[in-house]
Amino acid sequence: MSTPGHDQVLAACKEGALLPGRDDGALLEQAIALSRHCPPSRTAYSVGAVLVAADGSVLSTGYSRQDGSPVHAEEAALRALPPGAELRTATLYCSLEPCSERASAPRPCAELIVSAGVGRVVVGWREPELFVARCRGLEQLRDAGVAVEELPAYADLARRSNGHLPLGRPATGPPGEGGPA
Ligand SMILES: [Zn+2]
Repeated sequence: MSTPGHDQVLAACKEGALLPGRDDGALLEQAIALSRHCPPSRTAYSVGAVLVAADGSVLSTGYSRQDGSPVHAEEAALRALPPGAELRTATLYCSLEPCSERASAPRPCAELIVSAGVGRVVVGWREPELFVARCRGLEQLRDAGVAVEELPAYADLARRSNGHLPLGRPATGPPGEGGPA
């Protein structure tokens, strides 16, 4: 499956030139670049995800609402996986913390990632308290034995793809209207 941005990610990663663990920042930037393709939604974040094998090959990519449905980035990337992909040693790069609660689908992304058996997740931006009082995505991943890394230096960049949301309020303020999307 090819969506806008997928080929650019492949080109930027040059199959194996960027390695998970060594080039986490550059790979996370590719996930953030994908988040710029998301059709904006007043009730959901714009998120990008890139799943990379241990040898640096890009297994799949995804971004929010890429097919017009309420699909989440991580979910889209997991759906697009080639059959038999080795996920234990793979890393999923997510511009935003994977969701732990969700209204538009029965299973939140943290659960989908654990079920798929992804070994490692790198996240740029912690989910703010806008739709959900407290996202526990990172916690759920860690509890399930997934290696989780946050790169807060990329939080601002990931947030910039979400100018359509009222994110001005402090993270500790009251939850916004609407529900988790
Ligand atoms: Zn999600």
